[in-house]
Amino acid sequence: MNRSHRFFQISLFVLLVFYPCSVSFAVRVERLIDTWQPKHYVVNITLNDRLSEITSASARIDVLILKLTKVVDLDFGELAIDAVTVNSKTATYIHRDGKLKIDLAESASPGTQLQISVQYHGKPKDGLILTNDKDGKPSAVGDNWPNRVHHWIPTLDHPSAKATVTFNITAPAGNEVVANGKLDNVQTTANGSRTWTYSEGVPIPPYCMIIGVGQFARFEPKERSITLLSYYVPQSDGPLAIKGFAPSIPTLAYFSETVGPYPYEKLAMIVGATRFGGMENSSAIVFTSNLFGPRPPQAKISQTYGIPIGTVSLIAHEIAHQWFGDSVTESTWADLWLSEGFATYFAGLFLQRYESEEAFQSYMKEAATSALAYEKSNRIPIHDRDTEDLFKLLNGNNYQKGAWVLHMLRARLGDDAFFRGIRSYYQAHANATASTEDLRKALEKSSGQDLRAFFQRWIYDSGHPQYELSWQFGLAKGGTRNRELRLTLKQLQPGNVFLDPVPVTLRTSSGSRDILLKPTAATTVETIQLREQPSGIEIDPRNTLLKEAKVVGIQTKAAGV
Ligand SMILES: [Zn+2]
Repeated sequence: MNRSHRFFQISLFVLLVFYPCSVSFAVRVERLIDTWQPKHYVVNITLNDRLSEITSASARIDVLILKLTKVVDLDFGELAIDAVTVNSKTATYIHRDGKLKIDLAESASPGTQLQISVQYHGKPKDGLILTNDKDGKPSAVGDNWPNRVHHWIPTLDHPSAKATVTFNITAPAGNEVVANGKLDNVQTTANGSRTWTYSEGVPIPPYCMIIGVGQFARFEPKERSITLLSYYVPQSDGPLAIKGFAPSIPTLAYFSETVGPYPYEKLAMIVGATRFGGMENSSAIVFTSNLFGPRPPQAKISQTYGIPIGTVSLIAHEIAHQWFGDSVTESTWADLWLSEGFATYFAGLFLQRYESEEAFQSYMKEAATSALAYEKSNRIPIHDRDTEDLFKLLNGNNYQKGAWVLHMLRARLGDDAFFRGIRSYYQAHANATASTEDLRKALEKSSGQDLRAFFQRWIYDSGHPQYELSWQFGLAKGGTRNRELRLTLKQLQPGNVFLDPVPVTLRTSSGSRDILLKPTAATTVETIQLREQPSGIEIDPRNTLLKEAKVVGIQTKAAGV
């Protein structure tokens, strides 16, 4: 699917060369905020006894009009609509092909605030997963990434359309209900059901708006945490939850010290229905139901927590998203690495601090392997404006290469400037959105360095450097008795040159020496005085660059060459 799409683009490019005015590249159309903006949702949902259907629901959407319009076009899936009102008056609408177009009767001007209310019912096709948990008990859990929330809540279904949300969820007694934000109230209704009210007081992306309903076992860890922390798991996972989720407490503390204050009112760690390993819903993370399942025999076990290191990094990844992705949200899908690359790298940073340097190095090596493998068959920039299928953005570029971009920036700027830049980027965009350019500017400000060429090559262009280093050692020119080493660094990758300085370590019998080659073209030649022939030469020994590299052609120069 992807391959044939790229082939089509290459064909378009050929056409473009010959017919420059008649054809243009297809750029993905994003559902950005345009004529109106949702500010707050109040979502009331009543579930039936078996949690297999929404008996009745209503969503009130507080809308701010941005441009003169007569229509508000919500995203809304296939559920049956019972009524639509605008400012309490019945409105006419068209509900077709995933859109709900509401006629405002008269044009609304910029600055107008409207209350739109939609009443509906039925069994959602997607987004709210109505299924049995691993113990066979009924459950209902939201799982919306990337744009599936509109199958159960009418929304503007794009990550940039952030809003606050209140949920009133009515479910049969015996069920526990969790959702984004603070639990305000639990009320028993006449027929024995209970209505749970949760409110999220800061704007969150629509794909992070969820509820979780089921017969969960609920735990609160005894250790102090920086926010109200609780675990919701199927009953049979009860004995495993406290140990299995133990990394959550130091992760929350570490990221709040390193990045900024935790953005939400609480954090619920939930084991339930998700099509992902974990889904980072704001303040209510859902993990796959086999999270605490049998370990694969080859799984490396954390020395700190006694659970697989893969589980530790998964927990840290989803918690890192609370800052990156949830609080600072990618402004377009092309900026997704600001969510996934950050979560991947910050999970690595957690391992570096709380597990070991070795665990971090091996995590980054595995990330490099994945990123390079992805690029073998996909020459696409991280900043991808074309790919139509959003699930295909869950790839080695946005995760592992994005993490490596941050690792390289950290190595280039130094810890002090890097983390200062990250903190000011976070502070400037918390509970809002950010673009790749916002990150570049923040890091330029904290470091005083011009990072345009770096971002251009690593984010907006594709591929990675393939270095080949050859060397010659012998007498220097000019008849002196001095000896010299001539290093030739070639970049063999197709496309543009990488200008990143390349550290090289030379080993001789008297010790080792570090030098820095600074490419300005595909071939870089450097000659240095050296008393004896090196016994070894290594490119990037501390693994600070995402690359392929080989050292070749050990030769001794003839005298006077
Ligand atoms: Zn993620």
